[in-house]
Amino acid sequence: MPLPTPSQTPAPAVLPGWDEFDAYLFDIDGTLLREPNRIHVNAFSATLREVLQRDDISLNGVTVHGSTDAAILRDACRNAGVDDAHWQPLEQTIFSRLSEMVHTQREQMEVVLMPGVVPMLEYLAGRGAVLGVGTGNLETIGWLKLELAGLRQHFHFGGFSDRFAVRSAMIAHAAEEARKLAGPHATLCVIGDTPSDVTAAHANGIPAIAVATSIFSVEELAKSNPEWAVLSLETLLEQAINAQTIPAAASSNRKSGN
Ligand SMILES: [Mg+2]
Repeated sequence: MPLPTPSQTPAPAVLPGWDEFDAYLFDIDGTLLREPNRIHVNAFSATLREVLQRDDISLNGVTVHGSTDAAILRDACRNAGVDDAHWQPLEQTIFSRLSEMVHTQREQMEVVLMPGVVPMLEYLAGRGAVLGVGTGNLETIGWLKLELAGLRQHFHFGGFSDRFAVRSAMIAHAAEEARKLAGPHATLCVIGDTPSDVTAAHANGIPAIAVATSIFSVEELAKSNPEWAVLSLETLLEQAINAQTIPAAASSNRKSGN
């Protein structure tokens, strides 16, 4: 029997099982899409200046990747030396104004899908998975980005940062929402582009797929010990398709599941 040619041999990097969960919690920014015009970030700075009446406050120097809007607010205020007693009572005012400012600019808001997003969502839904988002965005802004990206119809629940500055608490809430739809014993998986996504998932006992589609490489993501670390959703899906189409004998380089 001829041996499979190298092009038929599946890449060994990704262990199987990533597509067998009952529900998935997708991060939005850097995982599903990016927003190159930075309407959200710029509106955030403008909102802070307006509501707090400070010209010197911005998101410069604030970690935004993997953070939550609520934590970004806190960090920006602390960087600028704004007392907690001043900004905390204004939190809801700031969130409302931020949402309003972003929605006002929705026509200018460009969103670019990450590679393989739609085929991946269709693939997982086709396997019966329930899909939701677990994002640091405020709820109104998160849904707006998904709507502009043409992705809104794929998602049935979400966890957002309106009430959760800590990402793991947001994921805990999203997991509750997932289990309302997928069942109390549903298996869950978080998909995100930062070490924060991975640690927030693990804090809830949930496995994670890390995708290197924003500022973190596969090697950097691997340090947070995700169950899977891949270049993109596209490369991950290609592995699943290859595994289905290549004869079982050619898949012998897979790690066994025991
Ligand atoms: Mg992200």
